[in-house]
Amino acid sequence: MTLPSLEAIASCVSGYDPHALPVPQAQEFIARLVAPVTAVEQVAIRAGLGRVLARDIVSPIDVPAHDNSAMDGYALRGAELSAQGDTALRIAGRGLAGDRFEGNVGAGEAVRITTGAVMPAGLDTVVPQEFTRLEGDRVIVPAGAVKPGDNRRLAGEDLARGEVALAAGRRLRPADPGLSASLGQGEVPVFRRLRVAFFSTGDELRSVGEPLEAGCVYDSNRYTLWGMLARLGVEIIDMGVVRDEPSALAATFRDAAACADAVITSGGVSVGEADHTKQIMKQLGDVLFWRIAMRPGRPMAIGRIGHAILFGLPGNPVAVMVTFYAFVRDALLAMGGATPEPLPMLRAACTTPIRKKPGRTEYQRGRVQRAGDGWEVRVGGAQGSGILRSMSEANGLVVLHHAQGSVEAGGLVDVIPFDGLI
Ligand code: AMP
Ligand code: MG
Repeated sequence: MTLPSLEAIASCVSGYDPHALPVPQAQEFIARLVAPVTAVEQVAIRAGLGRVLARDIVSPIDVPAHDNSAMDGYALRGAELSAQGDTALRIAGRGLAGDRFEGNVGAGEAVRITTGAVMPAGLDTVVPQEFTRLEGDRVIVPAGAVKPGDNRRLAGEDLARGEVALAAGRRLRPADPGLSASLGQGEVPVFRRLRVAFFSTGDELRSVGEPLEAGCVYDSNRYTLWGMLARLGVEIIDMGVVRDEPSALAATFRDAAACADAVITSGGVSVGEADHTKQIMKQLGDVLFWRIAMRPGRPMAIGRIGHAILFGLPGNPVAVMVTFYAFVRDALLAMGGATPEPLPMLRAACTTPIRKKPGRTEYQRGRVQRAGDGWEVRVGGAQGSGILRSMSEANGLVVLHHAQGSVEAGGLVDVIPFDGLI
């Protein structure tokens, strides 16, 4: 398969301007650049959690396999219920879950039944036991206790035979191993895990465990990147800190591109950078250097080195996280075979005004909380792109879209919450 050149992709993106690229255009470009892996492996259903389903799972059976009772009570014929007074039915026997009632049920008869038990032939309604009383061998059903058809689960109502139970491209969530098991399937086909290599660049960076000399900072980006990648379930290859030295950089880029589907770097891509990172990227690959109309996170490199997709993220710790969430996350999901899904957002009332010019996308760290029937979000505090603490204290990212202007106090804004149910 020949992949489109970066130039060809750029020509398809309307409004493409590498010097002031709007976030949606950058996202479109990247979506066109990446391609899903093709290798598929069969894994046990529990191991499939969080993985991307490679093929549709089609139900080989009706689930449930038989009409069955949704309640503990008495199965009967709905047509025999009296509209005015009590209905008295002779109890013909018992049908328990896992042990069906096999006999014939005559006119005027009912069968004691438990939840999940197969409906005896000819019966279509279950009256819950708490609505009834017993008189000798008869059950008395008061008028209006149930309507014909109540409390009966129909065969195939969960899934009919031949129906797609789980569609290819789905990231498997906790209900899904259960659903596979309900079909009797102990394994699922998933795409192979994506391999993602990353390293940090910058002579000022020191790794945890090393002494911190004057003018140096500890490398934190490899740890936030690790955290974000771990949540995506990819295979992570941490290549450390690489000195600003051409041969070291070239060797690391080559190694990374040879072993990974995607290579993520941080630092060394801003316009004023004196270091060698950009030169080496250019030499080894087909790479574009963007200035994105966003804050934080303006500079970014994107392209290919060998078969690997390169994401050259800015160095500032908050910019790394924001550009990862804005661009890399969806790209890696797509490369892993997942069907794209927009992130859920909350509409929250902003507690303070925010000044913003239209023409760039801004991401502000905020704390979102319940307020009356809706949500409110508090932004403020230190929003500098180097201040990682603000990211740690936030529980969501306020997204001020490209065309949006200033927001008044109480105005509604979109917030991407960090935590979801699953
Ligand atoms: P750069 O994009 O290389 O100009 O870096 C921008 C800022 O981010 C500089 O203050 C760097 O020291 C800082 N920075 C770059 N990489 C890292 C890293 N891995 N961990 C923490 N800070 C970093
Ligand atoms: Mg640098």
